[in-house]
Amino acid sequence: MRQAMAEAEVGDEQLRADPTVNRLCERVAEMLGTERAMFLPTGTMCNQIALRVHCEPGDEVILEESAHNRHYETGAPAALLGVSHLPVAGNAGVFDAAQLKSSIRPAGHHFPRSRVVLIEQTANLAGGTIWPIETLEDVCRTAAEHGLKRHLDGARLFNAVVAEGVPADRYCRAFDSVWIDFSKGLGAPVGAALAGSEEFVERAWRFKHQFGGAMRQAGIIAAGALYALEHNIERLREDHENAALLAGGLAQISGLEVDAPSTNMVFFRTTPGGLGASELAERLRRRGVAVSTMADGRLRAVTHLDIERADVLRAVETAQGCLE
Ligand SMILES: *Cc1c(COP(=O)(O)O)cnc(C)c1O
Repeated sequence: MRQAMAEAEVGDEQLRADPTVNRLCERVAEMLGTERAMFLPTGTMCNQIALRVHCEPGDEVILEESAHNRHYETGAPAALLGVSHLPVAGNAGVFDAAQLKSSIRPAGHHFPRSRVVLIEQTANLAGGTIWPIETLEDVCRTAAEHGLKRHLDGARLFNAVVAEGVPADRYCRAFDSVWIDFSKGLGAPVGAALAGSEEFVERAWRFKHQFGGAMRQAGIIAAGALYALEHNIERLREDHENAALLAGGLAQISGLEVDAPSTNMVFFRTTPGGLGASELAERLRRRGVAVSTMADGRLRAVTHLDIERADVLRAVETAQGCLE
């Protein structure tokens, strides 16, 4: 990947004249089955630009209560767009068409205008869980019937693709806007791509400039993303196998409760009365195992391309040692 980045042909991305970025965008549009795509520095920016295209101030975005856009993007839709969230309590990050329907505001000048349904595939804080294709299509169909735009936060879309055997373009077909992250499991250092119709992407270009996401010789980072699309998708399976191995190992340790993983994330907690979650995370960190502490007391371990089976076994052993 570093070699590909070093050798990348570049141009001025703001002028849409960087050949490597252009090649990346064509490749993304082809893989996701959209008319066009646009390269951006981060997934966070993809979410905000898409919502900016779809919404006016006072509009409301319907999303699952654990959604990243609600918790981990510093309130950006409110701060930057004048847009509010209507959270839906789903099951493992997934809600159904009936729940969507009952969340849509009636017409009338008192209410925010329901404008977008946002779906996160996979659902990060819900455990890296997968929206079943039927549910996703059903929710999007209902959204369209009520005049709502459909937006896919596909930070980890390819984890769902390899886990379910559902092609990326099938997932994306139901949406007006979709994006993927190159800097998560795909293992590139920087970048995300936002995709949709010709008209959507053309409108999004204005906000790419406005939000400071138009770049110059971005081909250097786009080359990393292209390399990732070519080499790092199929191998996401290994991350899922390693997550299952990790969860199985941690579940054997007394003092821990572990959620069964769906993809590459393992959420677990310490049992009440024992070691606290942040104390365990600190002990693990001192012994070379990095886990995140979540606001609700859970711990999160993520498997990725720098983690091998042997690392997982060592992590389990280390956790055992921390709790003895
Ligand atoms: C990481 C993540 C984002 C934000 O992506 P960045 O590239 O870190 O800005 C958005 N949504 C989900 C579900 C994520 O996991």
